[in-house]
Parts: sequence; C-alpha cells; structure tokens
Amino acid sequence: MFRRILIANRGEIACRIIATCRRLGVETVAVHSDADARAAHVAMADHALWIGGPAPADSYLDARAILAAARAAGAQAIHPGYGFLSENPEFVDQVQAAGLVFIGPSAAAIRAMGLKDAAKARMAAVGVPVVPGWQGDSQDPDHLLGAAEALGFPVLIKAVAGGGGKGMRRVDRPADFASALASARAEAQGAFGNPAVLIEKYIECPRHIEVQVFGDGTRAVHLFERDCSLQRRHQKVIEEAPAPGMTPEMRAAMGAAAVRAAEAIGYSGAGTVEFIVDASRGLRPDAFWFMEMNTRLQVEHPVTEAITGVDLVEWQLRVASGEPLPLTQDQLSITGHAFEARLYAEDVPAGFLPATGRLAHLRFPPDVRADTGVRPGDTISPWYDPMIAKIIVHGPTRAAALSRLARALDQTEVAGSVTNLAFLARLARHPGFAAGQVDTGLIARDLGQLTAPDPEDALWLAARATAVLAAADLPAGPLAGFALWSPLVHPVVLSDGQGPLQARLWLTAPDRAAVDFDGLRLLAERGPAGWSVEGRRPMPVVADGDRLHVLLPEGRGTLTFTRPDPLLRMAAQGPGDGVVRAPMPGLVRAVAVAPGQTVAAGDPLAVLDAMKMEHVLTAARDGVVAEVLVDPGAQVEAGAALVVLAPEAAA
Ligand code: ADP
Repeated sequence: MFRRILIANRGEIACRIIATCRRLGVETVAVHSDADARAAHVAMADHALWIGGPAPADSYLDARAILAAARAAGAQAIHPGYGFLSENPEFVDQVQAAGLVFIGPSAAAIRAMGLKDAAKARMAAVGVPVVPGWQGDSQDPDHLLGAAEALGFPVLIKAVAGGGGKGMRRVDRPADFASALASARAEAQGAFGNPAVLIEKYIECPRHIEVQVFGDGTRAVHLFERDCSLQRRHQKVIEEAPAPGMTPEMRAAMGAAAVRAAEAIGYSGAGTVEFIVDASRGLRPDAFWFMEMNTRLQVEHPVTEAITGVDLVEWQLRVASGEPLPLTQDQLSITGHAFEARLYAEDVPAGFLPATGRLAHLRFPPDVRADTGVRPGDTISPWYDPMIAKIIVHGPTRAAALSRLARALDQTEVAGSVTNLAFLARLARHPGFAAGQVDTGLIARDLGQLTAPDPEDALWLAARATAVLAAADLPAGPLAGFALWSPLVHPVVLSDGQGPLQARLWLTAPDRAAVDFDGLRLLAERGPAGWSVEGRRPMPVVADGDRLHVLLPEGRGTLTFTRPDPLLRMAAQGPGDGVVRAPMPGLVRAVAVAPGQTVAAGDPLAVLDAMKMEHVLTAARDGVVAEVLVDPGAQVEAGAALVVLAPEAAA
C-alpha cells in the first residue's frame, strides 16, 4: 500500500478519498487553488499545497503544477478523482514519466474509450451490443441523411468527440436533418475541435443503466448496475442501485457485457460502462446497448458501495499499489437498495441555473451518508461545480430506501444559497418514481408539478411570521416588553426578495405574541425550540448578517429574508430634518406612502433596490407625510430626497 498520495481534485470527491486514506493509514496531500485556500479538503488532508489561480486551467487542470506538487510533497501516487484530469491520457503519461503511479486505468485504455465511434467499433468487435447506427469516415450530408433514412427516424446525431450532451441532436423527420446536422457539427467543432458525427437510432422511452466494473489490467469483475434515468438535460439528479425492475437474466447479460468491455481494453481500476435501455416493453436482455465507458470513479459510486459493502476507493488504492482484485465475482452480492440525491446550489424554477452563496447553515440527518466538500460558513464559488453534497441512503427494499431518502431530504437543512432541496424532496415523492417507472424524460415531463409553488399557504404565512418574530428579537422573561395597559408595538420590515414584508407585532402575554401583516393576525407562543406560530412546530431560524433564513419543514427548503441595514436606515433618515434620502444610488422599487398620510416611527416609506439588495427606508419619527418626491421606477442618486415629513410642530 502507498505511504502517501496526492489528490488532484477538490470538494467532496477529495474529501471522500481522504476519508478512505485515513482509514487505511495512507497520508494525503491536497492541492488547492487561490479560491480553495480554506476549503474543507485542504483542512482535512495531512498536507496541502497551493497550485495556482482559481480558474481550473490555472490549477486543477494544470498538470505541470500538480506534478511539481506531487514531487515536492514526496507522494508516490496521484488520485485524480473525477472530472478535471481524470480522463486525460496525456496526464497519465506524464504521471508515469515522473515515476509516479496514476490511480486509474492506463492511458491506452482511456484513449480506447475517448472517441465514441472508435469505442463503439471496438465494443461491437468483442460482442458488446451497441446502439444500432451508422458511423464512418464519410461526413457528406447526403450520405449521412441516407444512413438516417436506412435506420429509420427518429435518429440521434452525436459528435464522436462528444461529452456532457454537447453536439447531440434528435431528429424526427428527414426534412429537419440538414439543419440539425449543421448545428450539431458547429457545436462539436466549437466544443471539441472535431466536427465528426455518427448517427444512432433514437431509443424511445430510454433508461440509463450503467454497470460498475473493476479491473486489474487483465481480468475484471462487475459490481452490478446503477439506474441513473432521473436526469434533467442529460445530467443525473437521483441515482439508485440496483435498477428497478431488473431481472436476473438482464443483470447477467449486462454484467457480462460490461466485463467484456473492460477486459477488451485491459482495464485497470474502477470504471463504468454506460448502457441505454429501451424500457418501452420492460427490461429485456436484448434491449440494452453500449453508450460509452467512463474510465474513472463516478459521482454516483456510493450507491454501489451501499449495496455491495465495498469501499471502491479502497479497491482503487489496493489495485493501483499492485494487490489483486479484493473479491471474485462469486463473492460479490447485492444487499438491499440504495439511493443518492445530488444537492446543488441551483435555482430550479429558473431553469436549473447554478447559484452561489455563503452557506450560513448546513446540517444533515445523522443516520445517512452525506458526502460533502463544504462546511457551514463555506462559500459556493462561481469557479467550480455548485454541488453541495450527495445524500445517500440504504434500506432493505426499494420502498424502504425511498422513504428514507424522502425523510433524509426533509431533515436536511441548508441556508445561504438557493438550492434544489425542495425539488429533490418532491422528486423523492413522485408517484411514478416510487412505482419504479423511471425514464430519462420523467423530470422534463413533470417539471411544472415538481417545481410548482407549495400550495400550503398556511405554512408560508407561519414562516413569514417566524421571520418577523426572529427579526424583532423580543426580550424574554416574565415582564419584559409586556405591558397590560398598552402593549408595546414593534414595527418590523423585512424583504423576501419579492417585495417588502411590513409587519407589526406585540406581546399579548409573557412569551405570547401577535403578528400582523398583509391584513392577517397570527398568534405565536415561545417555547424552548423557538416560536410556535399557530400551533405549528417551531421552524429554526438562522441569522446571517442582515439575512434571516427560516428552515421550512419536510424538505420544503429555506425562506430567506433581508433586514434593512440599521446604519443605512439611519443615513436615510438624516438628522431629524424630516427628509428621507436614498442612502446609495438605486432604483425606487415602491413608495409606501402618500402626502397627508400619518406615519409612525419605523413605518416603511419607500423601498430602494441597490447593490442587488432591497433597502426599506423607514420613518425616523411619528409624523405626517408632506411630500413624496419620487415615483416607483425612478433611478436616484445617493442622497436624493425621496419623502419629506411635515415639521414636527405640525405633526
Ligand atoms: P455524452 O457523452 O455527451 O454525455 P452520451 O452518449 O453519454 O453523451 O448520452 C447522454 C444521454 O443522452 C444519455 O444518458 C441518454 O439520456 C441520451 N441518449 C444517448 N444516446 C441515446 C439514444 N441513442 N437514444 C436516446 N437517448 C440517448
């Protein structure tokens, strides 16, 4: 076994590899960019070396910097993780030329699977079923159209150098072929510098089922299949093992084909053979076809670990250090069922837009495996993949595991960035998914339902009241702030990103409060776990600077509110001249008052959008509005007068 290895990666996969190394007594060397100087993987490793700037090309993709770090740290081997340099055969050559071990397959094996056309030809030659299609040197549009017509529409045009779904076009009619071909070729040329394409039969109702393989360079075993059909735009969202509806015959056929694929290229280490399956008539041993082989450890490997009890990173280290495969095919078996959900910082309703932010709060339920590379307080930066964590559950049956997944998502708490948590929790309760009716189109078909706002209005109202109560920070104690003769009313103004939430609240008894907003009154009671609104279980609130995050129950995610900055509010109010000014340049979003209106101290007067935030400008004192100098939509300079209160004597 190695004494010390370098991990040429970051985030959760680096942490994942370090965890196994620790258990095996292998010392770890982390590398990091400027953006990751204080990242979790750096803190977790035994040693850490800086390798460059935040852009991947300047650090995690810089082979020279990584090799220099490995030499400086005295590492014997390099684990590439996934992504970055993990499937780059030149890097493998360079690692070996430096006298180090690459923890993964040979450069030749990676090259054999690098281009889709060559890989398909090689697989077909050893008897692995490949998707029916046409490939060849002639890239003449008429010739390709003829090939498509011979196959029968619909067809899929695929860039031979493709990856990440790029350079791929489905074509349903001959008339659309020429334009689809032109755009696929242009995209492939731009992304891969290679415009060549192949044509495949488009599989209707496709399922993505992949087989985990493990080789020693000569022989290989498989560790059964994973179903990764729950995808959005060809990206996996929830993965599971084994595949729902899998039959022993089909599993044996797929496993044998995957082992043949791995052995045909002398595969060493962990790899995945991806198949596309036609699920229109159930799972049948004659309806699966090779798509591609990923010559690395995959993101979703934990579900395989959960059902086999194998630590795949341990196997990688053992085989790379010269040990034989730890188990034979006969010694491998499946126990129970496992799911993995990928928690991302992303805005699902906005089209799965990647998000960033500082994670003010992050907590996973104690009884699940959560693979993560970030801690509370860490930032999801724009430089890297916005994955926050993988949540992995295991149960004796698929139904038991799925209900554990739903519960685990309900109990996961994250605040500080938009996330897909609520979307995942809904997906985990999707009836079709629960019934095992998965295909790659499920999410797209039901996207509306999976992202619709939660209809349970009462919960949202309670969450807003909870935020108001947290913002007011009412003093506790038997008599504090509570006066029988005239309750002390606290005005609170928050913003939830949609607009201002203007509320008033007061204690009706010690530790009981009434909260008014939007013409409603909600009653709350304070207990050891916080404020219970209208008898609901208290929702935890995380304060983070001027933001308040209310953690909703049952996987509904987090509601974030912004408190107007008290300093800005003071600046806006001025020294008591009754003129309310813009504290900074911005856009007047709303004006809450009209001339002649009586206002109380703390009442919102106007809302200013500035520096990507909303600032609620409030009255410094009781009074009457004398003048409103702006309309909603006006762009104003810092210091511009917005609202004027009548002089105090006249109030
Ligand atoms: P890439 O290398 O760009 O990721 P793949 O060949 O792995 O491309 O295919 C990505 C996804 O596209 C698959 O997971 C599947 O959902 C879909 N797909 C690929 N080939 C076909 C096909 N012949 N018919 C239908 N869908 C396909």
